[in-house]
Amino acid sequence: EDKDHMTQLSKPTGNALLENAQNHMPLGVADSYRYWGENNTVFVKHTQGCTITDEDGQEFVDFRLAYGPIILGYRDTRVDQAVIKTITECGTISGFSTALDAEVIALIKQMCPNIEKMRFANSGTEAVIGAVRTARGFTGRNKIVVVEGGFHGLYDEMMWKSDVDNWDSSTQNAPQITSFGTGIPEASREHLETVPLNDFAAIDAVFKRVGDDIAAIVIEPILGNCGSIASSQAYMQKLRDMCNTHGSLLIMDEVKTGFRVAKGGAQSLYGIHADLTTYAKAMGNGYPVAAFGGRGDVMDIISFSKKGVTHGGTYTANMIALSAAKATLTLLNETDAYASINQAGADIQALLSRVFTKYGIAHQFAGPDSMFGVHFGDEVPQNYRDWKKTDSGLYTQFAHNLIKLGVMLEPDSREPWFICEAHKNVDLAWLEATADRAMAEALNTPA
Ligand code: PLP
Repeated sequence: EDKDHMTQLSKPTGNALLENAQNHMPLGVADSYRYWGENNTVFVKHTQGCTITDEDGQEFVDFRLAYGPIILGYRDTRVDQAVIKTITECGTISGFSTALDAEVIALIKQMCPNIEKMRFANSGTEAVIGAVRTARGFTGRNKIVVVEGGFHGLYDEMMWKSDVDNWDSSTQNAPQITSFGTGIPEASREHLETVPLNDFAAIDAVFKRVGDDIAAIVIEPILGNCGSIASSQAYMQKLRDMCNTHGSLLIMDEVKTGFRVAKGGAQSLYGIHADLTTYAKAMGNGYPVAAFGGRGDVMDIISFSKKGVTHGGTYTANMIALSAAKATLTLLNETDAYASINQAGADIQALLSRVFTKYGIAHQFAGPDSMFGVHFGDEVPQNYRDWKKTDSGLYTQFAHNLIKLGVMLEPDSREPWFICEAHKNVDLAWLEATADRAMAEALNTPA
């Protein structure tokens, strides 16, 4: 829907590359979300620190950070050197274990004290698949409860969403459930229940109806795919209590929040423990690595016993991924990276707030400083339905103007602003002047 009112970036080299790529790939891109329209699709030539440079030579200060994995900065030599050393000395895979496997998990356990046992995966999607299968194996139940506006990866069962985009918010009717495109069997939604975030009555109702068959609630504690709208403390406690009462597991999908919002992830901010947690993105500073784990008794269902869950994969715990994770996690654990990240995030929200206030725009920030959502409206949205009532059209226009001026972000306010350590060097005065100009142009008024 946003593609129609895009500001035309019109990059000659980028446009020619897209035209060529369309001979080889559907839409000319490797991930459909990278297609931003015929004149807007970005081709990156180079990354460094907190910047990306496109094929036409324009440099952008990047707050999109590849949807979140970059936590230190692009091409962090401390991580890259560790990976190069491992590849040079050991290789990439052997189809056997390495000492690195347990070493990385021991490091994660230092940072996330509620983790007892883990397994690795190659992407966030795979980590969620592993966690959900483990929860089903352990509980012997099928149903999974998810939250509207959450995202858990591109696999059939998680490719269903409440159709809030086509929802009439003036009625009391719940939105319909719809799939992300075709090719998703109807049967894959059979065990899925969807509730709005922060709605106590909805969670009571679903447990009343099918509580005995709920294997797990799967939730992003802070909706990294819906403008960083956070679960309230009381709601998270409610989910924990409902799971305890009904023998269901609480799975926190920390693919975006893990190792980003705090050393111990979002659950350390709530002080509420998940039974299982998924990690990916920030744990490898851009290298493809993921993991899931939690309670030892739950994870031990992964076994060859008659009731055992099967898990693995050719590239699981490959040495590239694990050496990147080891280096990244060591840096996050032992340096003051989080202090720099949070300071930069707070400074950037402050300057954005000054700009929005200057133009009389009611605005709200949601989520933590390392991953904040920007919403135009009078109240902080509490869930996806509230987000629908914000002025996301103005946000998209503002974002497109920023992109033209050299500030990269997703032109959709459901995607948060991501901060990495390298953002500590951003010229805040330049960023404020640029945001001012982008907003003036969005409103069609003089700066
Ligand atoms: N879970 C969450 C919360 C995510 O944000 C994402 C991706 O954005 C995924 C899972 C899927 O991760 P991946 O793209 O690595 O498969």
